[in-house]
Amino acid sequence: MSIAGGVDKAPARGAAVHSTAMQIFVKNNNRWDGPPISDAQAKAFAAELKKARIPLEHVFAHTCYLINLASTKPDIVEKSVNALQDELERCEQIGLPGIVMHPGSHLGAGLEAGIRQIAELCQKVIARTPKVKTRILLETVAGQGTNIGAEFGEIGALLKQINNPARMGVCMDTCHIFAAGYDIRDADSYAKTMKEFDREIGFKNLKAMHLNDSKHPLASRKDRHEHIGKGYIGEEAFRLLITDPRMANIPMSLETDKDEDLTEDRENLATLYRLAKAKYPA
Ligand SMILES: [Zn+2]
Repeated sequence: MSIAGGVDKAPARGAAVHSTAMQIFVKNNNRWDGPPISDAQAKAFAAELKKARIPLEHVFAHTCYLINLASTKPDIVEKSVNALQDELERCEQIGLPGIVMHPGSHLGAGLEAGIRQIAELCQKVIARTPKVKTRILLETVAGQGTNIGAEFGEIGALLKQINNPARMGVCMDTCHIFAAGYDIRDADSYAKTMKEFDREIGFKNLKAMHLNDSKHPLASRKDRHEHIGKGYIGEEAFRLLITDPRMANIPMSLETDKDEDLTEDRENLATLYRLAKAKYPA
């Protein structure tokens, strides 16, 4: 949900589409730095969330797109570490339980070296923020280029090396896992994929979900989100997912294209409510 005008403006936008969960940025998503969140904004954010009746524990952040902890360029690594620390502190300031981050791109250095570097730098940022409770949520990715985290085993290896379950977690993105080759389109493939997720990552580490359909077929390794039920994944996968008791308390967010009037959010939410056999309030 957009934070144009300040983070405290997001809850009312959520309320306008009857959100019960929300993902936000905590600063401009295409810049290394930004103005701090003022105390007044933080207070207003809490008050607005309450008014919107969105539980704080269902609100999570996404890091800016420039961060790459696996970069081979020292200046980018330094900027990434500092930006991640800053964003974690912003999340803590407004009480968010987690911030979603793409693990990173190794740019040719190799998977193993990339995983080692991301793990070490996560540990470094965690050590620098001992009072912060916000978790870093590693997102499953589609596997474009040298991106790390398309295989569940890669995320599992990162969690194992970082070895700090209190400060780490995972965000599963339906479009990304499908693009990475994990089928979820019917009961059998869904069960198989979730079993593998549980084995390699563990449901206890799942702290957030991104619900997106895919503009490209299974295993395309292309990250292009489509509206729910309108892409190659289709409605059945989303029905299976939102009626899966293991997902009952996992906050979920759409990341699909929308206009400022949020019509597409309402349509996608209405589809999800219909699939859950529940009534969308609008
Ligand atoms: Zn996502």
